[in-house]
Amino acid sequence: MTVTADARTELDRTRFFINGEWVEPRGTETHDALEAATGESLGTAALGTDADIDAAVHAAREALENGPWSRTTAAERAEVMIRFAEALEARSESTSRLVSQENGMPITLSSAFNGAAPAGLLRMYADVISHTELETVRPSAQGSTIVRREPVGVVGAITPWNYPQALAMFKLAPALAAGCTMVLKPSPETALDTYVFADAAQEVGLPPGVLNIVLAGREAGASLVSHPGVDKVAFTGSTAAGRIIGAECGRLIRRCTLELGGKSASVFLSDGDIDTFLAAMPTSSFMNNAQTCTTASRILVARSRYDEVVEAVAQFSRDQVVGNPLEESTTLGPMASQTHLDRVMGYIDVGRNSSARLVTGGGRPADQDRGWFVEPTVFADVDNNDQLAREEVFGPVFAMIPFDSDSDALRIANDSNYGLGGSVYSADEERALGFARRVRTGTIGVNRYDIDLGAPFGGMKDSGIGRELGPEGINNYLEYKSIYAPADRLG
Ligand code: NAD
Repeated sequence: MTVTADARTELDRTRFFINGEWVEPRGTETHDALEAATGESLGTAALGTDADIDAAVHAAREALENGPWSRTTAAERAEVMIRFAEALEARSESTSRLVSQENGMPITLSSAFNGAAPAGLLRMYADVISHTELETVRPSAQGSTIVRREPVGVVGAITPWNYPQALAMFKLAPALAAGCTMVLKPSPETALDTYVFADAAQEVGLPPGVLNIVLAGREAGASLVSHPGVDKVAFTGSTAAGRIIGAECGRLIRRCTLELGGKSASVFLSDGDIDTFLAAMPTSSFMNNAQTCTTASRILVARSRYDEVVEAVAQFSRDQVVGNPLEESTTLGPMASQTHLDRVMGYIDVGRNSSARLVTGGGRPADQDRGWFVEPTVFADVDNNDQLAREEVFGPVFAMIPFDSDSDALRIANDSNYGLGGSVYSADEERALGFARRVRTGTIGVNRYDIDLGAPFGGMKDSGIGRELGPEGINNYLEYKSIYAPADRLG
């Protein structure tokens, strides 16, 4: 049954967006969205079943094969994408606030990543596709060959809760630019905000079926991955889920990109500047309450500077303003859910039960009597083989490790199953750059760490396969095709 009028309460999202309409769920399961800072109700969302996913994939397939989108010119798609960006911008303030409430992200960060970034990415890929050669003719031995770049097809996109708007748009913007259609399955932890894309898509007249959104859990997510109507899977989430999804895509010979977890290292060389290092910490280690895939949760420090840096990091942690993420002064909000808080507290126990030294934190903040807050926690003298140094915590729990030389630091930085972010600090830029070149990681900063949306982003080793962002990100959504043609096709 489909419903065209949008009669939702302010935040409830009890229908799915399929084929350009708000559609009643096939099942009955719902998810109560709770505010991270208070535990109070934010709204209710319907949870999709395999049948809802199936309906969404059929809509996307039909739109790809018989709809106008995949046959529009790049200029026509760019024009719609810019209007889409404007529609999101008009909603950016309320979207930023909503995500802060959902997952605890401090509002200033949320304004950048949930408010501004999605529109910025739409504009960027509108520009990229306008400058991409989608058809060229080249001479061949028998005549000529037309080399085309066609949309890869129906995209199944699966996103996590930590940057729900930006990470969805890392996929949606290049997919739209390429002429693909999409089924987007967000995470139940951020159940409400992704539907803002649907509101904007309706407003700008994105053709039906080009974007379909079904909130669902893991099982329905798995049915999206293996659905025969899907051509490409774009996944961001944990390495554990990425392994399962990658294996299924391998079995099906299905294109996939996997953006997974991390255990990045900040490396403070013997001539590093403490103020520079501390100025980077909000983005390198604390960003989004350390619920960031690139979080540098291992802090490697030259032994000659170790005590000084351990004390500075501990003091920096104590100085964090822990509180409601909607307050502009807050620098550290709550964890996204009770389940996630339990996980982070579990890692604090892991640290306490190891030979590491607890320097600061280690519990719940005494002045927060509700919500899923955790004290920023620093362990020193961590062995790089300890569980705390090897596994992703995804919260403000940091492992500090001393080293004896640059080569020792490089060995420790690279001694990780992951390779996603990282940064290196030195007064000597060439020394730091030389170090950065040798770290096996997808991104690394010199005397800072902040993501550049204009450059390829992704991981090495267990942090994933493929790259999103930058002009290169369009390649995930285009497929080459060669047409062997007569010679007279040449200009
Ligand atoms: P998660 O893997 O539990 O879930 C991510 C998404 O995948 C959710 O929508 C979930 O419902 C779905 N899912 C889980 N198992 C699935 C399966 N078997 N088949 C299909 N869908 C499935 O991760 P999370 O806890 O939501 O997010 C945190 C993780 O994401 C961290 O490990 C973090 O490092 C990673 N992450 C990576 C990047 C990156 O760009 N590399 C960015 C952000 C987050």
